[in-house]
Amino acid sequence: MSFYDEITALDIKSYARQVDASSDSEVSRALSKSRSGDPLDLGDFMALISPKAAPYLSDMAVLAEKYTRRRFGNTVSMYVPLYLSNRCLNNCRYCGFAAHNKYPRKHLLPEETRRECEAIHRMGYENILVVSGEDPRVCGMDYFREHLPIVAEYASYMSLEIQPLDTGEYREMKQLGVDYVCVYQETYDPECYRINHLSGKKRDMRYRMETPERVGDAGIDKVGLGALLGLFDWKADVVALTRHLMYMRRHYWGTRLSISFPRLRPAEGGFQPEYPVSDRQMIQCLCAWRLFDHELEISISTRESPRFRDVITPVVITSISAGSSTQPGGYAEDHHDLPQFIISDSRSVTEVTAALRRCGLEPVFREARSQIPGMAEASGF
Ligand code: SF4
Repeated sequence: MSFYDEITALDIKSYARQVDASSDSEVSRALSKSRSGDPLDLGDFMALISPKAAPYLSDMAVLAEKYTRRRFGNTVSMYVPLYLSNRCLNNCRYCGFAAHNKYPRKHLLPEETRRECEAIHRMGYENILVVSGEDPRVCGMDYFREHLPIVAEYASYMSLEIQPLDTGEYREMKQLGVDYVCVYQETYDPECYRINHLSGKKRDMRYRMETPERVGDAGIDKVGLGALLGLFDWKADVVALTRHLMYMRRHYWGTRLSISFPRLRPAEGGFQPEYPVSDRQMIQCLCAWRLFDHELEISISTRESPRFRDVITPVVITSISAGSSTQPGGYAEDHHDLPQFIISDSRSVTEVTAALRRCGLEPVFREARSQIPGMAEASGF
């Protein structure tokens, strides 16, 4: 049974009600297990993100920071997104790259990709996240076969955030040097998913949701899960995402897992989030996640404000971007045509790394792969 089969057999809206119904005693049991380092179950997680746990946020943050430092030391991995293309055949209501937005489109030529990589190299990055819109007519496997070897010359760790692929294609991506694949589910509620994904292959919710399993089957080192907070009731999506994480831990024990909590930001086309998540609620969620899973990698992008990033990074974050451009050609040629979303933290790499050091953290520009070669393959089935 795939995770899609598991989650769609449930009514995830009921998770929000269960979270809200958490009692004081359930919160205190979850906090007590967190203090002693005992494993938490899904009920404990729900209690920790509930309104009843809100008064204990500073206690949760202290514990979360302790477990983050114990597992990851005082380092934070630095990554940078490299946008190869803003062409997309999908119509996601919340995204500036959606096909219905009539703006100039661009995909990089090989020499432009090299210029972007050189500009990124000058910024000090070796951990590069390759991003593109989903238009396999232009950016299909042939395009990536031509461009990823160029990126690999500049990257010691290469990540992908592109259209979902088949297992065989992911195996080839691994051969091309890909270490990490991010595929965010956006929302786990089928109705909300249908409403927000108007056309294109992304409307196939099953294919998208089973992508992390195909990545695991292909033996890629790490897979990134996430939900786009603000699309649907965040409590329901956060609990569903936790179940997804549990599923992947059970079935792909050798695959490293990362999560991201992109919060919806205004984009071209005038989209406004319907279910906004406050800073406090988001911090509570992130702390709950760390208490639930001490091994979990958590990344944060420049969608979030400098203040929010400076506060949360020492507590739970393991990887952070800085100096990002969300446009193809944005590093070498400073394009300002069509951003995917509005960047909130526009500080330079130097400013962000200085802020990290003020918190006693060491920014690391070279990410290590798994210690045991072949471990990811061994865990898939
Ligand atoms: S979110 Fe991704 S798939 Fe959807 S329109 Fe934007 S680039 Fe395309």
